[in-house]
Amino acid sequence: MAADPRSALPSVDRILRSEPGRRAAASLGRPLLKVELAEVLAVARDRVARGAEAPPADLLLAEAAHRASVVATGLTPVINATGVILHTNLGRAPLPLDAARTVARTAVAASDLEVERASGDRSRRTARAERLLCALTGAEDALVVNNCAAALVLGLTAIAKGKQVPVSRGELIEIGGEFRIPDILRASGATLVEVGTTNRTRVSDYRDALGPRTGAILKVHPSNYRVVGFTAAPSATSLAKLARGHGVPFLYDVGSGLLDADATIPGEEPDVVGALADGADLVTCSGDKLLGGPQAGIVVGSAELVRRLRRHPLARAVRVDKMQVAALEVVLRMVATERSGEVPVVRMLRESADAVRRRAVRLAGLLDGELEGAHVERSDAVVGGGAMPEVTLPSWAVHVRRRSPEDLAARLRTGAPSVFSRVEDDAVVLDLRTVAEEQVPDLARAVLYALEGDDDLDED
Ligand SMILES: *Cc1c(COP(=O)(O)O)cnc(C)c1O
Repeated sequence: MAADPRSALPSVDRILRSEPGRRAAASLGRPLLKVELAEVLAVARDRVARGAEAPPADLLLAEAAHRASVVATGLTPVINATGVILHTNLGRAPLPLDAARTVARTAVAASDLEVERASGDRSRRTARAERLLCALTGAEDALVVNNCAAALVLGLTAIAKGKQVPVSRGELIEIGGEFRIPDILRASGATLVEVGTTNRTRVSDYRDALGPRTGAILKVHPSNYRVVGFTAAPSATSLAKLARGHGVPFLYDVGSGLLDADATIPGEEPDVVGALADGADLVTCSGDKLLGGPQAGIVVGSAELVRRLRRHPLARAVRVDKMQVAALEVVLRMVATERSGEVPVVRMLRESADAVRRRAVRLAGLLDGELEGAHVERSDAVVGGGAMPEVTLPSWAVHVRRRSPEDLAARLRTGAPSVFSRVEDDAVVLDLRTVAEEQVPDLARAVLYALEGDDDLDED
């Protein structure tokens, strides 16, 4: 009988025991390399069974080591040259350096996270941030949780579980893959009552939906899309009045985390102070959108309602960790001391097009000589991250023309430093609004490195 051709393949253990295998295991971690090897070998066995030749052990090891290194390299800083300020897949808001330093300092040591130093009494980890939020928004009380979705689930659970919550059909939105308002309501044990239509909803639609089982009225800012044309939505003020008349709370999810109206920021985002002034009993928003802080969910509003949320058992399940607390405190302090211009997201939103253009010219200058075909051109940056869908910010970009720009974009992503760009027609577009001044030399180096060995000479 002929020997099974699969026996020509080495075992996982034999590869791991070999000298190159031991070296790879030392740097990548043996458990990780082992599972990758097992998978690579399973595929190879399959192929061999179907008549392919058995690949040599070093090739199998190289393949497994490559796959392991993608994981072992871990979370990697990248340069965001996409022109999308709040890029959810790139981690949304980059923190101010001060905030990151405080995070690092408090992360490696014990801290007064939940204790008052003077009295030695126990305190809450979010008390300082919540005090700042009250001071900044004028709210009676505030609560900080893990993210805005958690804030909504907690709020609806604590206030409207087992009850009905009318929401406009125009606001049954999805934000990101897993966040859908109807699902959030279901998870909270509240019953969604859809009112109005996608484009037009009136106060009377809400009024008709109110009854003895109503637990709250919820308004959600459709932060990542706009219904344009023949539209109508009742003002927050009129919904607040309706809710008050019916004796139920009015919850307003503004989402994007603009604390106060800011004329220097384009677009018409609802802000927390405005939502409270309109009569919202609870307002929820994210920490890592327009506020420019860490991931967090912020709730502000009536003392009685915030207390109910704080005391709900779910609050513990959605609490923030100390690194989020540290970063949020620093960012809120910056806002409170009129230093919000130092928050990267705010800087990116406010910077003049001219300042961005100068940065683009600087980048092009650094590429010049090495690279013909780098052009400085007008660009449109966007806010992203589920904020201001219709607003573009005038920006400037360096275009690098290639016959296959997708290839260059891919090399940029896997380079060091890694760069994320846009591809438009025949060019890789590097938008400078989302690139910090101090990143420009690194960005230039990354581009030149990615172009090295590139035989695409289709530059004009
Ligand atoms: C972004 C957003 C959320 C979700 O916020 P996370 O902090 O990502 O959980 C909820 N509601 C609105 C209106 C949003 O814009």
